[in-house]
Amino acid sequence: MAGVDVGGTKILGGAVDEAGVVLRRVRVDTPAGEATAEDVREAIAAVVRDLAAGHPIERVGVGTAGFVNAARSMVMFAPHLPWRREPLKDELEKLLDLPVVIENDANAAIWAEARFGAAKGAADIIGVTLGTGLGGAVILGGHLVRGANGMAAEFGHVCAVPNGDLCHCGLRGCLELYTSGSALTRWGRQLVDKEGGGGLLHEMAEGDPVRVTGPMVTKAARAGDDRARGLFRDLGGWLGLGLANLAASLDPDFVVVGGGLVEVADLFMDRARESFEENLTAGDYREMPTICPAALGQDAGFLGAADLAVSGG
Ligand SMILES: [Zn+2]
Repeated sequence: MAGVDVGGTKILGGAVDEAGVVLRRVRVDTPAGEATAEDVREAIAAVVRDLAAGHPIERVGVGTAGFVNAARSMVMFAPHLPWRREPLKDELEKLLDLPVVIENDANAAIWAEARFGAAKGAADIIGVTLGTGLGGAVILGGHLVRGANGMAAEFGHVCAVPNGDLCHCGLRGCLELYTSGSALTRWGRQLVDKEGGGGLLHEMAEGDPVRVTGPMVTKAARAGDDRARGLFRDLGGWLGLGLANLAASLDPDFVVVGGGLVEVADLFMDRARESFEENLTAGDYREMPTICPAALGQDAGFLGAADLAVSGG
């Protein structure tokens, strides 16, 4: 089987076997600039053809950022891709002459962790993916929960702070504004802007808040800068609060934290666990779920998409 993970900057595909072993990977840049919806479809099809050259492929799962409809056929809206009500399944099936299924990328990545990775064997799982934004997935009784519109588990846009900062989605105070790579960048800029000199981050940005990037905040934290480390602790605190709210609603036995920020999980996971326990109701009367970082790295998206194309979730 084969899966493809379509992101704003790269398209990563994999041919995999039923046990989740990756047989072959293909990676290309996502067409950017003036790229059309068709350009992105062609790039995905080229990745699948490349995979199929080495391994027999009978169906394809495609995971993509954005809102995917409940029928797993259309991308309703993708913030970083030129897709609006894109009939991606039909268009790719025409190009490839193979059955294709479309999935939300966070659903695909967390499903892979449930099948083959950190949460293998657990039945009731909540997962978040922390990158530029915050994606989510819910698995209950071993089944992926998609909701009436296919839009379940958009945890990034539950309200964490009433009347808080304005989100690109149009609402205010969304959780992803406080628990994502973009949160670190925004707070890092505020730190350099308001508090001025003295810190390593200020030095690295040469005093200019606009120069602050997420990787810069990470580098400063890794070098031991207290204020940069404090930003990661803040992120962990918000993450724990968000996960506690989700756990109060869904009562999982396992919580997986995935996405690119997992590479620096040691900077925020302890604080996230602490905050989770502080904020979860009836803590004395329940078994706390296991909270752990994802294990499959960048393979998770295409692995989950490939498996969901066969199993249906
Ligand atoms: Zn939002």
